[in-house]
Amino acid sequence: MKYVSIIVDLPVKQVNQTFSYHIPEKLEETIGLGKKVIVPFGPRKIEGYIVEIKKQVEFETKPIIKVASDYSLFDQELLELAEWMANYYQCYLISALKAIIPSGKQRVKTKRVVNLAQSDQETNEIISQLEKRAPKQAAVLFYLVKNPAQQLITTNLAKKVNTSSGTIRRLFKKGLIDYNKEEVKRIPYQDTNFKKTTPLAPTPEQEVALSEIKAAINSQLDTTFLLKGVTGSGKTEVYLQSISEVLSQGQEAIVLIPEIALTPQTIARFKGRFGKQVAVLHSQLSSGERFDEWRRIKEGKAKIAVGARSAIFAPFSNLGLIVIDEEHETTYKQEDHPKYHAREVAVKRAKLNQAVTILGTATPSLESYYRAQKEEYKLLELSKRIEDRPLPKVELVDMRQELEAGNKQMLSRSLEKEIKARLEVDEQVIIFLNRRGFSTFVQCRKCGYVMECDECDVSLTYFSQSQILKCNYCDFTTKIPEECPDCGSSYIKYFGVGTEKVERALQEIFPEANIARMDRDTTTKKGAYQRILSSFSAGEIDILVGTQMIAKGHDYPNVTLVGVITADTALNLPDFRASERTFQLLAQVAGRTGRGAKAGQVIIQSYTPEHYSIQQAKEHDYQSFYEQEIIFREEMEYPPVTHLINIIVSDKSEDKTIKVAQRLGEIINAKLKDTADKQLLGPVQAPLSKIRGEYRWQLLLKGRNLEELRQLNQMSLQELEEVKELKSVKISIDIDPIGV
Ligand code: ADP
Ligand code: ZN
Ligand code: ZN
Repeated sequence: MKYVSIIVDLPVKQVNQTFSYHIPEKLEETIGLGKKVIVPFGPRKIEGYIVEIKKQVEFETKPIIKVASDYSLFDQELLELAEWMANYYQCYLISALKAIIPSGKQRVKTKRVVNLAQSDQETNEIISQLEKRAPKQAAVLFYLVKNPAQQLITTNLAKKVNTSSGTIRRLFKKGLIDYNKEEVKRIPYQDTNFKKTTPLAPTPEQEVALSEIKAAINSQLDTTFLLKGVTGSGKTEVYLQSISEVLSQGQEAIVLIPEIALTPQTIARFKGRFGKQVAVLHSQLSSGERFDEWRRIKEGKAKIAVGARSAIFAPFSNLGLIVIDEEHETTYKQEDHPKYHAREVAVKRAKLNQAVTILGTATPSLESYYRAQKEEYKLLELSKRIEDRPLPKVELVDMRQELEAGNKQMLSRSLEKEIKARLEVDEQVIIFLNRRGFSTFVQCRKCGYVMECDECDVSLTYFSQSQILKCNYCDFTTKIPEECPDCGSSYIKYFGVGTEKVERALQEIFPEANIARMDRDTTTKKGAYQRILSSFSAGEIDILVGTQMIAKGHDYPNVTLVGVITADTALNLPDFRASERTFQLLAQVAGRTGRGAKAGQVIIQSYTPEHYSIQQAKEHDYQSFYEQEIIFREEMEYPPVTHLINIIVSDKSEDKTIKVAQRLGEIINAKLKDTADKQLLGPVQAPLSKIRGEYRWQLLLKGRNLEELRQLNQMSLQELEEVKELKSVKISIDIDPIGV
């Protein structure tokens, strides 16, 4: 008898516990690692996954009831990756596994098609016999002889010969037709014709990068490259030629692209070079399409997976390369459990496969650049745009001076003048408004002063109902001052302009212009996002007003001016990464212009134009930005110098939530008494203090050694377990959180 270890689909408290079952003889053929099965569990029947096949067990076992998947949903390597995730992110193994396996229905779709049960010749004889008595039946047979390749299901065949399904059933009863199972393939972009492209002769900088990458690929080293290249420097061509190299070694590649940049244009760049070998995986596809693409990968028919975050789990068996484009993007971090970061998972998966990783970006995350400085990653640079196109000229407008000059509008005089000039020559304009952090901070419009927490160096969050300001990290609370603590003016107020307001203001000033707005409100309908972009691309829109959404990798050669309404909103997020976000956003937005033959210009409006993140973005100078930002991180002991663990406590009862958060705080603090290298911030009310009726509090653990932090966290949570009455309270852990 054979046995299996099953990880059951229940969040069992013992994180990685498996259960043993035996395999009944009739199922032996279909059993295998990674198969989904149904097993008895107490009085219930539940789903589980096979993680091990064994010759013997120590206890009496129950049999597996049923095999519930046609495919093995993970192999040994992906299982190992899941185990690593469960350990690294302190999540259940089952939730790590479920992140890895294809979501939705994991079923092959089949249809029952009608075929002839005998040769054409025999059928023709039968037709002549039937013609008089049963002309409809004869017609069906005649149709099948004439169209052998059509493989129709009953109802469609009936329609073709203008009869009912009953006719076909009667033919089946007579043994004149058969039903066969035919697989239905749901391949996205099947009917799209992608224009074939061939490799471009590399520029000298591309050449250097490529030779290093190819050397690593050929030596089977798990090197991680940080490919830092300004927008338009030809990073994609480097990815494409690296992929070619991997394919020629008989290996496979994964390319991650932020969901929002997975446009038909992006897909065309990969399909255009590699055709059918490319499988696409993203959330806009139906679950059937996704599963069929997953199968093409599993069966070795597709060699390249292009997709969003979860494509990192594409089931290749001989992975040679992982590319992460725009590696700094926060969407690579999963918000739900397991809260993994695709970049961390990629580096681990590459290690398991001796594969090469390329992290591409114009503005590296501090984490990646820090590692490159420590030579954990190998830095490759593309410093020039293709064809030596100049980077756009960036002008900073000091909005404090605008106010002094009597201009209280949201458009500076300079921006207004430039928009007008572009409209006159039929060029296009993008106006960018950062709505993240919108109206959460309080700033003086006269001197630019922002209310901050002295302890934590992050801006205070404005709570409109209670009219107070609060620190998200340490709970420091204060009232909104009547006057600016710095300059004494009464122009201190919380901030807030929405895209709609900007659109209206622009329409008033430029009544002739075609203005469109792109934000969450205008893009909720399916396809709306694409529609706005194509009509902008076709030149039907003169000015596009939008949020973050328009900052991503789109290419519009006729855009020659980008205006940023207020650079400061991101800067004043109550988040230690605020400066990093600001620099990245400004650099990205600036990258939207001057990509064609015409030169581009950027105008950034700000109340604190002297801030280094804004100054360095103006100069396109990442290096200087990094050097200043890392000093701040060192001083305040924030990542990448340290690690963080964010613990969120939540419950429908506010009282219980606070009690648990405070109790956990006490437990942790008791353990921290004699250590200086670890710290606890909080407990405090979480920035999102209530979601779906549940109150939320958070505790932030900080320290240089992640493993030690994990252990501290684990031990503290175990101790908390003993507080019986509070057992129902939810605790969620986020390792290396972003946006805290
Ligand atoms: P990035 O990804 O760095 O923003 P892209 O890959 O989009 O840059 O390249 C910008 C443009 O330059 C694209 O139109 C691309 O086809 C072109 N390009 C890239 N490499 C070369 C090359 N070696 N020779 C000519 N054109 C190139
Ligand atoms: Zn002031
Ligand atoms: Zn604070």
